[in-house]
Amino acid sequence: MTATIRQLKKAARIILVGAPGVGKGTQTERLLTRFPELASISSGDLLRENVRNKTPLGLKAEAAMQSGNLVPDSMILDLISSEFKSRGWLSAASTSSINPSASFILDGFPRTATQASSLETIVPVNFVVHLVTPPSVILSRIASRWVHEPSGRVYNTDFNAPKVPGKDDVTGEPLTQRDDDSIDTWKQRLHKFEETSKALLEHYQRKGCLWRVEGDTSDEISPKLFSAIERQFC
Ligand code: AMP
Repeated sequence: MTATIRQLKKAARIILVGAPGVGKGTQTERLLTRFPELASISSGDLLRENVRNKTPLGLKAEAAMQSGNLVPDSMILDLISSEFKSRGWLSAASTSSINPSASFILDGFPRTATQASSLETIVPVNFVVHLVTPPSVILSRIASRWVHEPSGRVYNTDFNAPKVPGKDDVTGEPLTQRDDDSIDTWKQRLHKFEETSKALLEHYQRKGCLWRVEGDTSDEISPKLFSAIERQFC
């Protein structure tokens, strides 16, 4: 089946806001396929790249990330503005002139109302999507996900269980649950999200650009999200 492609008629500057594990990454990938003019920036990916490359910023951010805390606002703002600049979305000389055709999705940024206010001084965001899945549904998704690390094969005990519980189908080696997926870390991240996102969502509600979409799965959410973006920008 060929994917449907839609052209944007207006610049779309989109933010996805949602609890950890809600599927922001999945929705972003699908949006990039459907709307090829969009580019995406994930603050988590940028940070992980810095940690991997052991940059000074990566070294500073690592501990906060591992413990499920947010990294300081100033650090994340530097990271994002330099990414905007390197993509040609901001003139090198000034952060006040945005390329009018730049259309993008920000994933994971801004996370707090303070970050949102700072972002506004650089880039006018015009569509904020609040992705909602009940935490109990996300939790059962995370708890049932197992990985065979050497190959990257992923199993889900609800709908794609290994033939022998706890063992990889191909090699018979033990399966593990990703560190990142550990339930305690997730709970801590959810708590942080709930704590900081309230003010963030209120901020965008006041600006009149907040739109909420709810579903138990990414497949349930995507078609609603596509229609909303098409109504607004196509
Ligand atoms: P993510 O992949 O978006 O879940 O981000 C992974 C980790 O990077 C988070 O748990 C935070 O420690 C850090 N991080 C990502 N984006 C931000 C942000 N906008 N503000 C502060 N910390 C962030």
